[in-house]
Amino acid sequence: MRAMILAAPKASLCQVELAKPEPGPGQVLIRVRACGVCRTDLHVVDGELPDPKLPLVLGHEIVGIVERNGEQADRFQEGDRVGVPWLGRTCGTCRFCLAGRENLCDRPGFTGYTRDGGYAEYALADQRYCFPIPAAYGDAEAAPLLCAGLIGYRSLVLAGDARRLGIYGFGAAAHIVAQVARHQGREVYAFTRPGDEEAQRFARDLGAVWAGDSTSQPPEELDAAILYAPVGSLVPAALRAVVKGGIVVCAGIHMSDIPAFPYRLLWGERTVRSVANLTRRDGEEFLALAPRVPVRTEIQTFALADANEALQRLRDGRLRGAAVLLPAAHCSDQSKSLTG
Ligand SMILES: [Zn+2]
Ligand SMILES: [Zn+2]
Repeated sequence: MRAMILAAPKASLCQVELAKPEPGPGQVLIRVRACGVCRTDLHVVDGELPDPKLPLVLGHEIVGIVERNGEQADRFQEGDRVGVPWLGRTCGTCRFCLAGRENLCDRPGFTGYTRDGGYAEYALADQRYCFPIPAAYGDAEAAPLLCAGLIGYRSLVLAGDARRLGIYGFGAAAHIVAQVARHQGREVYAFTRPGDEEAQRFARDLGAVWAGDSTSQPPEELDAAILYAPVGSLVPAALRAVVKGGIVVCAGIHMSDIPAFPYRLLWGERTVRSVANLTRRDGEEFLALAPRVPVRTEIQTFALADANEALQRLRDGRLRGAAVLLPAAHCSDQSKSLTG
């Protein structure tokens, strides 16, 4: 099978031929139809996350077709369409797993990080951590739901009942969460890289009541803010923008250092918290909710061989919505925009 692999941190991905993997007990072999490109992939490439499997096939927003069941795998039929998220396995026995907080498992496996992911024609997955994909979505349109959507949803839940919600960084996760937030009757205030009028327009198109630079203050005090941009200086900026009792949720897996800030920004029972990974329950809840909103994903598709280009566009902020790799598409040098 063709796969794009990361041989070492800070290297470009290389296209290689690998043996088609064999599903082990409880695993399914999936023919990958689409795989989303997530900012976490960039953090792995940049060596910002410790101890990745190497060489590694990135990709944890996999949509594909079950081609073969391993022994004792009977949850899905061959031919079923499934999604594979970041949470690839948990131990089931640590204090966090036993408390229903498997997102914090002490011995987890993560797709496209500590085990191979979906930047390839085939992928393996533990059947227990796969999700059926709602029929309303095409393969490529569904891919961003599996991380940008799931973890975006978890971060929205952790923002509490905030009516005025700030979103810092208007990429793949934000464009999904803004739609859910609006559906729930919240007001969305979108903050982008200074001067990024294209992203601000995109946010307004998706119903944001206000969009502006991340360095500016919103016109109203916010009840909560979610940070999708991996920029530590946004933490004090967001604290400055939220009202007493407000919550600032850091939704990324990595962030540049948070600068020192005066205690008065945290005073007034403001909260700063992070979001780590997902539980299977988050996935089930969000994938049931998404078609009811309905969440529409804006994607730009790339051939598998163009994974480095997709990552570079994400790094440069030159994407509207989410990048999605299509392993079945051959040699495209242009990408196209679709709306699901
Ligand atoms: Zn555990
Ligand atoms: Zn992700």
